[in-house]
Amino acid sequence: MADHYEVLGVARDASPEEIKKAYRRLARQLHPDVNPGEDASERFKLVTHAYDVLSDPEQRQRYDMGGDSAAGFGGAGFGGFSDIFETFFGGGGGGGRAGRPRSRRERGQDALVRVDLTLGDVVFGVHRDIEVDTAVLCETCQGSCCQPGTQPVTCDICHGSGQIQRTVRSLLGNVVTSQPCTTCQGYGTTIPYPCSTCQGQGRVRSRRTVSIDIPAGVESGLRLQLPGSGEVGPAGGPNGDLYLEVTVEPHDVFSRDGDDLLATLEVSMVDAILGTSTSIDSLDGPVDLDIRSGIQAGEVLTVRGRGITPLRGTQRGDLRVGVQVVTPSHLDPKSRALIADLAKRTKPGPPRLAEFHPGLFAKLRDKFKR
Ligand code: ZN
Repeated sequence: MADHYEVLGVARDASPEEIKKAYRRLARQLHPDVNPGEDASERFKLVTHAYDVLSDPEQRQRYDMGGDSAAGFGGAGFGGFSDIFETFFGGGGGGGRAGRPRSRRERGQDALVRVDLTLGDVVFGVHRDIEVDTAVLCETCQGSCCQPGTQPVTCDICHGSGQIQRTVRSLLGNVVTSQPCTTCQGYGTTIPYPCSTCQGQGRVRSRRTVSIDIPAGVESGLRLQLPGSGEVGPAGGPNGDLYLEVTVEPHDVFSRDGDDLLATLEVSMVDAILGTSTSIDSLDGPVDLDIRSGIQAGEVLTVRGRGITPLRGTQRGDLRVGVQVVTPSHLDPKSRALIADLAKRTKPGPPRLAEFHPGLFAKLRDKFKR
């Protein structure tokens, strides 16, 4: 028997990918469907057998060590030409069921559209009109694929079954295989006058606008599914689904922690000592905040109900503002004297070591950096 590597025309150290490639090429040339000659059929068997052995790591090892794998020929995983053919060439796309033609109508593919949202959109939800470029039903033929007034006709070759029976002689005897009819591609009918608008596809590409209410609370990476809003299937088959993938642009000030919004409030040392009230610009508009006298760096001021409405729920989260006390770094001589005077009066103790306590503020700041 010829050497399997020679049969496939590959080196002895060929990778599985190279072996597969070589087999594909030869199988295309020699497959009985393409090349009905007796000679080609014999070579096809040899090529298939060689591939069968060399594509299985165990069998290949045994073969390399000198023992042919005659025992493996026709054994596990080898189910005749038709199986191999379908493995490599995609077969009849579901047309393999005994004697039944396949339908031209198939479900359309899902479509994916990306949408960029601001954090404000996420807090309140937002309405968007989204441009979608997909296949839609052909208006001319309404998905029949035929020029109006004409119809598909039964295929002359397979007489409507969509299948061609073929008897193949193999080492195991005569094997009857059934393959999709190449004249009608397994549909059982042909279309003598294809619709000129859609070239017989039953659908055309089109840009359309889809209006959608994006709910509050969505996060980056989330996919919203709009059933039936994807492309129409071949021959007017059912629509696929449309998916919207959400990306939330980072906000300059606010970041998100679950349903809460986080921000930092810079408070001057003087305001921290004396206390003050201020108005901050939340995503809901101005909110009044009281800075109590003696407030500490790292304290968190919570504004209830000014966070995000969860995707499944109605109770809005909170706005949490971490206080950062800003110490003046440059003082004029007079201010410096005043502070020194203050130090004399209040007699603060020296710096004192205490337990490490990152506190909420540190967490807030880390989140903000991200
Ligand atoms: Zn059409």
